[in-house]
Amino acid sequence: MVIIHDPQPLPMIKHYKKNGPWIWRCHIDLTNPNKELWNYLVPTVEKYDAVILSLKEYAQNIKTPQLFFMPAIDPFKIKNREMSEEEIKERLDHYGIPTDLPLVVQISRFDRWKDPQGVIEAFKLARKEVDCTFLLLGNVATDDPEGSDLFESLLDCREERIIILSHQDSALVNALQRRAAVVVQKSIREGFGLTVTEAMWKGTPVIGGNVGGIRYQIEDGVNGFLVSSVEETAGRIVRLIKDQKLREEMGRRAKETVRKKFLLNRYLEEYLDLFGAFETIYRLTALPKF
Ligand code: UDP
Repeated sequence: MVIIHDPQPLPMIKHYKKNGPWIWRCHIDLTNPNKELWNYLVPTVEKYDAVILSLKEYAQNIKTPQLFFMPAIDPFKIKNREMSEEEIKERLDHYGIPTDLPLVVQISRFDRWKDPQGVIEAFKLARKEVDCTFLLLGNVATDDPEGSDLFESLLDCREERIIILSHQDSALVNALQRRAAVVVQKSIREGFGLTVTEAMWKGTPVIGGNVGGIRYQIEDGVNGFLVSSVEETAGRIVRLIKDQKLREEMGRRAKETVRKKFLLNRYLEEYLDLFGAFETIYRLTALPKF
């Protein structure tokens, strides 16, 4: 069984002798794909035995069977494992991150769909009412030609209380998601949003854009907030920073949501069912003909 992730390596299927099922696992939001590009990809997609998409609403009009598996996180990875207060402090001190005021954090690739400018604007509005520090941690995907320009342009937004960092450090991601008073993921388009899952797992309330996979993780007003504008984001930041009890309550429910729905055991079961289905088909086709 071969599983190919995302569009970049999709054509590999044309260059290998196929000895078993090939599955395409697409992680991106396909609700409104660029038509020309999608039509170009379809003949290759249809060479696969199955396609796995993250949400039902990403389904396409193709011949290949489509399955829908929401992603999940590994709670034992460095990014998600338990951390002591000392370990968290050590990571934040290492990068000189101030913890004297509540931290508002967004962690995401430098990509305009993650709306980094919008988060900074929201923070500036929120700061008129509550004292806090904003930290944006991001990276540039090697296959994204626009990422480094966006990063450069964001650097001009830096101020004493607006920190913009780019470090490849999973323990730092973990420490920030734990120490943050509020995590924001103000995406305007999002396939699923693992950063939301990761922060929720740490019992931190998340304010997420009301789009794509974020909507399947956050129940507005219950285990976090869903937002659609800069003003709404600012309002939710202020509300959460002012209300420690609300933060704790939402954080507790957020962690419970991830425990029930977004840990690897559920994902593994879905994959095992799929492998099992193919095993039956391939065993039957491999039977000698009498
Ligand atoms: N991430 C990271 N460092 C960064 C930014 C992101 O390690 O500076 C990780 C983040 O923790 C998450 C993944 O990259 O595991 C991003 O996944 P997500 O589904 O949120 O967004 P994508 O980048 O796939 O659109």
